[in-house]
Amino acid sequence: MAKMRVVQVSKPNGPFELVEREIPKPSAGTVRIKIQACGICHSDSIVKEGLFPNIQYPRIPGHEIAGVIDALGDGVTDWSVGQRVGVGWYGGHCNSCDACRRGEFILCIRGKIPGITQDGGYAEYMIASKEALALIPEELSAIEAAPLLCAGITTFNALRNSCARAGDTVAVLGIGGLGHLGIQFCAKMGFNTIAIARGKDKEALAKKLGAKHYIDSQSGDVAKSLQQFGGAKVILSTVTNNDAVSKVVGGLGIDGQLILVGIPFEPIQIQALSLIGGNRSIKGWASGTAIDSQDTMNFSALTNVRSINQTFPLEKVDEAYQLMMSGKARFRVVLLIEKGK
Ligand SMILES: [Zn+2]
Ligand SMILES: [Zn+2]
Repeated sequence: MAKMRVVQVSKPNGPFELVEREIPKPSAGTVRIKIQACGICHSDSIVKEGLFPNIQYPRIPGHEIAGVIDALGDGVTDWSVGQRVGVGWYGGHCNSCDACRRGEFILCIRGKIPGITQDGGYAEYMIASKEALALIPEELSAIEAAPLLCAGITTFNALRNSCARAGDTVAVLGIGGLGHLGIQFCAKMGFNTIAIARGKDKEALAKKLGAKHYIDSQSGDVAKSLQQFGGAKVILSTVTNNDAVSKVVGGLGIDGQLILVGIPFEPIQIQALSLIGGNRSIKGWASGTAIDSQDTMNFSALTNVRSINQTFPLEKVDEAYQLMMSGKARFRVVLLIEKGK
């Protein structure tokens, strides 16, 4: 039997183990992907640290997967061997829960999640459900595609489903893995893009990524600064600091929306009046399905949006993961699994 190299976690808080496994065969309705690159996302800590109940170990993490279909299971008629595909957080849905019955497949209560409910992309091969596949446009390398399959789709899909329309003022809170993509998408979607981050250091980068304006959250009142632009129609929050989120709410314009895609560790405090006066709202956004990933990649190819990546080989997964968890990565960390891709 042919073998593949994989990185698995055998128990909560267990180490990454680089081991060999048999290359799996695709069952009905699935394909096997020869993986070329896999991004490391903060949510991979769910498996590494055992943050969800009922995770079955050993588990191979990874849900920013880019590769090539190399075998088809029975009943897969719309995909073929050799196609370049990506897989993200969405791994398939049950088609019978209330969310599915309403067509909200990403919210399926029994949704499959690569790298969490099934083995993911820290490996040379994986099995994916056919509905989880997104076609990668030829303009994107595997390394470029991988981060778009979680960080990319999350920010792109939140923005394109928001209430903002071309020309509106949209602010992106935080310039990290999510934020540096959010700024680019905002600019390319035609929004008056404002980047908000701590200190002056990131101003030049934010402007290079397409921000028209930059607000240093340490040098004054962020909400007041946003109001000088008439208030933001949308603020996309990518940060993990709850206070930073609380402080931007007053910067929303009339009917403005604060959309959370970053996950603060602590509860966010909001003055009710700051929402009521102005019909403002706060909402979350859960990434999207495979076709949304495909749209994200096509838009990125079309408008030249790219994530800034640091790449590591599979053997250096520890170093790569630690860098991502430290918050010091610039800006996404990607495992290059097949060299030259
Ligand atoms: Zn993710
Ligand atoms: Zn469902």
